[in-house]
Amino acid sequence: MEIAKVIVDVAVRETDRPFDYLIPDSMRAWIEVGSRVGVPFGHRTVQGFVIAIQPQEQSGSFKMKPIQEVLDIIPPLSVELIELAQWMSQQYACRFITALQVMVPTALKGKSERYISLADSNEERQLSPELEDSLFARQTFVQLGEEEIIDFVRRKAEVTMQQLSHAFPDQASTLKSLLRRGILQENRHIKDKLQKKTMKAVHLAIGSEEALEVIDQFPAKAKRQKEVLQFIYDSKELLPLPMKTIMSALQVTSGTVKSLVDKGYVTVEDVEVLRDPYQGRHFEPTTPLTFTEEQQNAYDRIVDTLESQEHGVFLLHGVTGSGKTEIYLQSIQRCLEQGREAIVLVPEISLTPQMVERFKGRFGDLVAVMHSRLSGGERYDEWRKIREGKASVVVGARSAVFAPFTNLGLIIMDEEHETSYKQEESPKYHARNVAVHRAQQIGAVVILGSATPSLETYHAARSHANPDFSPWLLEMPTRALGNKMPEVHIVDMREELRVGNRSMFSRTLHEAIATRLEKKEQMVLLLNRRGYSTFVMCRSCGYVAGCPECDISLTFHQKSNNLRCHYCGYAESAPQVCPECGSEHIRFFGTGTQRVEEELAKLFPGIRVIRMDVDTTTEKGSHEKLLKQFGEKKADILLGTQMVAKGLDFPDVTLVGVITADSALNLPDFRAAEKTFQLLTQVAGRAGRHQLPGEVFIQSYTPEHYSIIHASGHDYTSFVRDEFRHRKGLHYPPYCRLILVTMSHEQLPLLLRMSENMAITLQGKARQRGWLGSLDRLSADALDILGPIASPIPRIKNRYRFQCMIKWRGNIDAIGLVLEAAHQIEDAVHDQHFQISVDIDPQMLM
Ligand code: ADP
Ligand code: ZN
Ligand code: ZN
Repeated sequence: MEIAKVIVDVAVRETDRPFDYLIPDSMRAWIEVGSRVGVPFGHRTVQGFVIAIQPQEQSGSFKMKPIQEVLDIIPPLSVELIELAQWMSQQYACRFITALQVMVPTALKGKSERYISLADSNEERQLSPELEDSLFARQTFVQLGEEEIIDFVRRKAEVTMQQLSHAFPDQASTLKSLLRRGILQENRHIKDKLQKKTMKAVHLAIGSEEALEVIDQFPAKAKRQKEVLQFIYDSKELLPLPMKTIMSALQVTSGTVKSLVDKGYVTVEDVEVLRDPYQGRHFEPTTPLTFTEEQQNAYDRIVDTLESQEHGVFLLHGVTGSGKTEIYLQSIQRCLEQGREAIVLVPEISLTPQMVERFKGRFGDLVAVMHSRLSGGERYDEWRKIREGKASVVVGARSAVFAPFTNLGLIIMDEEHETSYKQEESPKYHARNVAVHRAQQIGAVVILGSATPSLETYHAARSHANPDFSPWLLEMPTRALGNKMPEVHIVDMREELRVGNRSMFSRTLHEAIATRLEKKEQMVLLLNRRGYSTFVMCRSCGYVAGCPECDISLTFHQKSNNLRCHYCGYAESAPQVCPECGSEHIRFFGTGTQRVEEELAKLFPGIRVIRMDVDTTTEKGSHEKLLKQFGEKKADILLGTQMVAKGLDFPDVTLVGVITADSALNLPDFRAAEKTFQLLTQVAGRAGRHQLPGEVFIQSYTPEHYSIIHASGHDYTSFVRDEFRHRKGLHYPPYCRLILVTMSHEQLPLLLRMSENMAITLQGKARQRGWLGSLDRLSADALDILGPIASPIPRIKNRYRFQCMIKWRGNIDAIGLVLEAAHQIEDAVHDQHFQISVDIDPQMLM
């Protein structure tokens, strides 16, 4: 016999290791590495994944239990994905099962369910003669009223306790007695959350010649039935026919078809269908474009590596409109020709119909699409299309990096700098690192594309210092259609205030909007709502209250009326007048899209505005609907948050306005400048993409900030030069790595004590290893611990939160050290309410 090593779905640290189970002979053929199984665990049945199969050792444990059931015919995971999950559990300090679960659709997160069946209903079981006798004996003792229940269960084979007590409401004691005497038995199953979708399909039960005869001789009064049979006969090439088709084509009920079943002419059965979220949508087929020289050069490099079947990572740095998508498309084409598959990752927010259309248009039905706006069932079916080899390209958000392809050749990550590639709940993985690691294991190519690459990626491509992540840089500095980058104007909003303009629109932006309205051209207005009302800024001079130690803005806390630094804990009281210029126009910053919309209506009577923000896009499909309306020129202005900045391609947009460029700049986040630069560059790229030239207005209270100046000049290189200098001085990524440890508990005193302990434990361990505090020397192995301080969101759901930030560099196992400390503290506290969460390379510092 063989045993399976199974990772069980039980979420405590003690079970975060494989458990051994016997593989019953009857299941041997069905169980592989990657199979999902139901196994007994304690007194429950839980779901688990097989991660290895081994011969049973002679000296093996006697208490080993057998696997109870195999849950899928095709295993949902593969050896490759199991290895990836194991790697993730180390990289992201999460449980193995958590990494495995994120790879399969939620539909497969089965729950253990109880069923009742007849004790002897299992026909395969070989009963000993004695047992047979005793069963018989018991059966003969069946008492009055029990017969009915036994019959009910026999007919249904399996019923839930609920169904049973519903059918026999007053017979609880009889039921119990039957169970106790072993006439009925209780079983447990893993039941998937979602069922496969089926439809009724109609088939001919007789040969087609016989069918003709039957039709000829059909009794005249059964005219409808005759028509139906004729219809089925006429469509014999297309069988089985959906019942619905017959019903709607002939305006008959399913009863008419059933009469034909009763007569033995046709059969009706349930067949599985895949839910297709894009059903009935036509995608205009497209053919490959002839590359520009820049595109050709980049493409050649990528395809060389692809052809060699070796691993390689490319950073495709191309300005907005440089034609990166066409390179993706033709690289995928090559990959498919090699018989390999491709994954295209795009940020959730830009998974617009426009994007999907470009891939479906080129590769049609081979494309599966995965994003969070699909229903659970649709997601499950798209996933199955991949698992069963019916799709060979997937376009999807973050988690599509786990697409269960078996011969993957290419992973593309568009807008690689987007923060949505990082998952904020456990497993807190970054899809970029996962993509690169997965590709490395199997010799696949990765293309990271962006007009504004993340500093981490760009640094890696420039320095080639990290052997695991060393992208080749491919540059495309000009637009594919040859049109110029739009002209960008920075508007100094302090000046507006000085001349008495208190509106949120500067005079120049106001005028520009008026001109576009006259010319009937379209506009995009961006309101950056991140950091709403959290930082303090002077409207007269642009002064922003910042931390003297950390070089980030302070966060305003209304309750205590003070300003705090979320990195080091520094605090001061909120100022009444500006400490720089003495102005009283110092206030908490932020405006809502709704207010902008109102103001637009007031300033430009009759203006047509489409507002796109979290409030207007909650409904499924609303995002698409709004964009479609804008595309059909049913509005003059598309107004919105970040959503309007990404990936949209509307030819008649000639004006882009940014209401306040600063609001993201002043978030308590060392990436604030980078994110501002990226957002401004992205949104500016929406203007003048086709014939009409574009113009961009950026309103700002800190127009001298380098991220704004460089964004206005479309100058990525200068921006990163300045930003690198900054990061280096303050020891932030990419010059070190970060680990964020967040601790939480309902009781503040206990949490405070434990957070202190955590910091002390971390320091002790780091000192022991000789790693503590030499971050200033660039190449050294070093680790620094900041905090504990209250988390930027100090209480969530009644739990207080404290955090420690670890900065580290070099060839040391900092993750291991942090985990060790975390476990030590957890064991010492011994309180289930105390939680420690570890975020490796955090993107959100809140
Ligand atoms: P990016 O993704 O880099 O922002 P796109 O792929 O959206 O750029 O390309 C911008 C525009 O240029 C699109 O309308 C696209 O169809 C067009 N385009 C790209 N490559 C070519 C080419 N080789 N020949 C003609 N048009 C192209
Ligand atoms: Zn001031
Ligand atoms: Zn600080």
